[in-house]
Amino acid sequence: MSEPEIEDNVFVGIPASTGIIIGKAYVLDRHMICVLEQSVPEDELDAEIERFYEAAESCRSEIREIADRSRSESGEDIPSLVFDTHFQILNDPSVLSDVKNIMVERRCNAEWAIKVLLEKYQTSFSKIKDQYFRDRLLDIEQALTRLQRHLIQGGDGGTLDDLTEPVIIVSHDLSPADTIQLTPGKVMGFAIDVGGKTAHAGIIASSMDIPAVVGLKTLSLNTRSGDALIIDGNAGEVVLRPTTAQFVKYNKRRQKHLYYDQAVHAKKHLEAVTTDGVKVKVLANIESSQDLAHLAEHGAEGVGLYRTEYLFIHRSKWPGEEEQFEDYRKVAEAVKSNWAIIRTLDMGGDKLPTGSDYMDMAAEPNPALGLRAIRFCLSEPAVFKTQLRAILRASAFGNLKIMYPLITAPEELIAANALLEEAKGELAGEGIAYNPAIETGIMIETPSSALFAGHLAKLCSFFSIGTNDLIQYTLAIDRMNEKVAYLYQPFSPAILKLLSQTIMEAEKAGISVSVCGKMADDPVSVAILLGMGGLRELSMDVHSIPRLKQFIRSISVKDARAIAERALEMTDAEEIKSFVMKHIGDKTREGLTAEFAPDGD
Ligand code: PEP
Ligand code: MG
Repeated sequence: MSEPEIEDNVFVGIPASTGIIIGKAYVLDRHMICVLEQSVPEDELDAEIERFYEAAESCRSEIREIADRSRSESGEDIPSLVFDTHFQILNDPSVLSDVKNIMVERRCNAEWAIKVLLEKYQTSFSKIKDQYFRDRLLDIEQALTRLQRHLIQGGDGGTLDDLTEPVIIVSHDLSPADTIQLTPGKVMGFAIDVGGKTAHAGIIASSMDIPAVVGLKTLSLNTRSGDALIIDGNAGEVVLRPTTAQFVKYNKRRQKHLYYDQAVHAKKHLEAVTTDGVKVKVLANIESSQDLAHLAEHGAEGVGLYRTEYLFIHRSKWPGEEEQFEDYRKVAEAVKSNWAIIRTLDMGGDKLPTGSDYMDMAAEPNPALGLRAIRFCLSEPAVFKTQLRAILRASAFGNLKIMYPLITAPEELIAANALLEEAKGELAGEGIAYNPAIETGIMIETPSSALFAGHLAKLCSFFSIGTNDLIQYTLAIDRMNEKVAYLYQPFSPAILKLLSQTIMEAEKAGISVSVCGKMADDPVSVAILLGMGGLRELSMDVHSIPRLKQFIRSISVKDARAIAERALEMTDAEEIKSFVMKHIGDKTREGLTAEFAPDGD
């Protein structure tokens, strides 16, 4: 059977957050302005300079207004950091006079002079070794581009807080400054030109439980605000100005999706037990103690990964022991008879401490291969011990476990445990309660730890496989770079071998093993993972839990074993994926939807 043809108005990108939505587009004009050089006659130059200063002033007022609003809405200072930086750049006399001087020298229009200045900055910043200063270029680019937009369009090309009705955001990119302005309820979904599987916009969309497609290349150039749009975040498709037939087709898909979602939500509290009676524990990944509120409503059986680094970024000093203790105590109390795994600080690599100047992470040529995660913590023992003391103290209030990120060798685990023992000794000496038998585990995120899992398993009580990083480090693919996103392949035979090896070694040593990377919420991966031995725990974004529990209830471990065995013999990632999909076909979202919907395409 030949592949169905893709219609001209259907843009195919990378699915970043599930769901299907039909609505009106709101185009946020980002990064795609066209700046032309115009020569300005001598007698008009003063007026052009005046126009430039006025635009800078109105840009600053706009930024101040947004910052004030987000401060008063959130009651926090955090969101305003980005705006404060942009304000300062547009208020910096040397930046403004540099633009003016270029205008005078070249007799050119203001927007062109800004472009020339930006190019100068780009050249000189590229020579700076310090990552912190190099990162400041992004702020300068965003601030000056905003100013160019004011000059060209008389405004910023739209801000999200102008929205009066729910819309689908279409944009070339979506900066953190944009996402800060998002009001849930006003945004139905995202369709973004750039980005790979772990794009910022996709992560935000998943946490807001709205559909998103990224990597759509030219969508924003072809869309006007007000255009009708369909986003299919399951298939990774966006339909621009749909025909009646397309409306009908995608509406059917949407109905099926909604039926399915309703059906799985109705069963979210049921355990995930396979058809041959094997129980799989499904836990949540959280990024803040505020996420705890959503555990029960999605049927999570505890916390499999608390990414504590979000406690450390966007602030002016290290969070102290007391502040951390209060936060971890909330986690301990919330999980009741279950457990919560607190991952110690995983800073560096893709998690750079933006807005946290206090954290002196020196620039490195290869941050992903540098002083990140456990390496950073071991180089800052005081900071690390403060976190360990806070977790230990919280362990007196509920079942907490400690997990170290990016362990590549036993020495790191031994050194981390030595600090943990020191912290325990201190607390005991101070008469402060903690759980002396707290379990410690490690993330398996590198080929070295997977290959050496047998030895590491003797030194800890559990493994959690971080497939996001394991794929990055095994296949040498920057997980954040959309240019190589097509090579980011969870079904690579090399990845499957490392997974199977890790799970086997954990089983042999009698310790538990879970998966907390993105592979845990993909039914195709899960069909293989559950067949790889004793893996019986998965941890994922809360919104994926009802869907995955339903999938697990529809398969048997016996079938999963046969699937895994065959997949491990195969040599081609695409072939492996198609093979598994063929086997579980009617048990995936689409197949299960058919059970609940009357009909569909
Ligand atoms: C992983 O690497 O798979 C993981 C879960 O950790 P993070 O995504 O926070 O790096
Ligand atoms: Mg990781």
